[in-house]
Amino acid sequence: MQHPSKLPRIGTTIFTVMNHLAKKYDAINLSQGFPDFDPDSRLIDLVTKAMHSGYNQYAPMAGNMELREAIAKKYDVLYQSSYHPETDITITAGATQAIFCAISAFVKSGDEVIIFRPAYDCYEPAIALNGGKTISVTLDGPDYQVNWNTVKEAINDHTKMIIINTPQNPIGTIFSEKDLLQLQALTKDTNIIVLSDEVYEHIVFDGETHKSVCLFPDLKARSFVAASFGKTFHNTGWKVGYCCAPKALMDEFRKVHQFNVFCINHPTQKALADYLNEPDHYLELPGFYQKKRDLFLDLIKTSRFRFTPSKGTYFQLLDYSAITDEGDVDLAKRLVKEKQLASIPLSVFYNKEINNNVLRFCFAKTDDTLKRAADIINTI
Ligand code: PMP
Ligand code: GLN
Repeated sequence: MQHPSKLPRIGTTIFTVMNHLAKKYDAINLSQGFPDFDPDSRLIDLVTKAMHSGYNQYAPMAGNMELREAIAKKYDVLYQSSYHPETDITITAGATQAIFCAISAFVKSGDEVIIFRPAYDCYEPAIALNGGKTISVTLDGPDYQVNWNTVKEAINDHTKMIIINTPQNPIGTIFSEKDLLQLQALTKDTNIIVLSDEVYEHIVFDGETHKSVCLFPDLKARSFVAASFGKTFHNTGWKVGYCCAPKALMDEFRKVHQFNVFCINHPTQKALADYLNEPDHYLELPGFYQKKRDLFLDLIKTSRFRFTPSKGTYFQLLDYSAITDEGDVDLAKRLVKEKQLASIPLSVFYNKEINNNVLRFCFAKTDDTLKRAADIINTI
């Protein structure tokens, strides 16, 4: 028996491919985005404590209430924006599951979803599995700014959803207040849902502040926010995230969530609730990662790579036009094999053949790893 693939154009993700190569060639791995250091041992102790305190059975479907309350408090304090813990917040298996549920709850056959490319890789497959069509708005380097007229032209009666990502992986840009006001104006008096992937909300540099959709009341009313503790508390492997939206949207989201996972692991939720109530942990994050970005860029400033400093996320794009005109996928693979340094080629985040001569490097690494990586980069 043969079954046609529901995702015929999808192979193994670039993150798995590059991790595998990095391991095989014993390379310094700046490819997949994850810290090469542990979370705070206090947070780990809080998980152990939760396990010894009875948090070992199913959590409530929408998530541990203390964690939902701590998230609501964070939105109140940081953004003066109110999400009700009972009805507007759901704890998810990472942001990936939040994104999947939000798309599945609303996108159906014939619907169009606008995304900005280069885009993180989990949006399009989720749209396709639900019968939707991805409409890509391409952002051009080196500054990757959004032309809102192009977005306006892409909107039509079939547009169900617009997905934004700020700070944006892989390009390290952030949306300004002006961008969000444009989005708010474009979607006003429409039925379009906005899915705002804000997993890097606490990793914004140079004194800028994160502009969440929740800061703009009309936009908030039509938006989901997807977020992830993995980026904020250095524990990507725990896969704990959450989703916020007004009740009417969240009601539909939960219909999918309850049959997708029902709930996610309980002891980490209890631990994260306690930890999140201490704001310093996330307030210190911009400074922590800005130092790493600056160290990395200072170490490679005399290399042949060109760059614009990342404005957010823990990724830095490096332009290699002055070195070779090789395709980025070929170069990324060659650097692992010949130089023992793994990165991610930017072209994989597009939906068309493109080569901007750019590689993405993750700087969520110890200073020692960054120094060793820079030593290699300076020889390329
Ligand atoms: N969105 C973006 C932009 C990401 O970079 C990632 C992953 N790192 C995710 C979503 C998924 O987050 P999680 O690992 O919490 O599922
Ligand atoms: N978000 C990570 C990155 O961009 C990848 C996570 C994954 O492999 N799914 O590197």
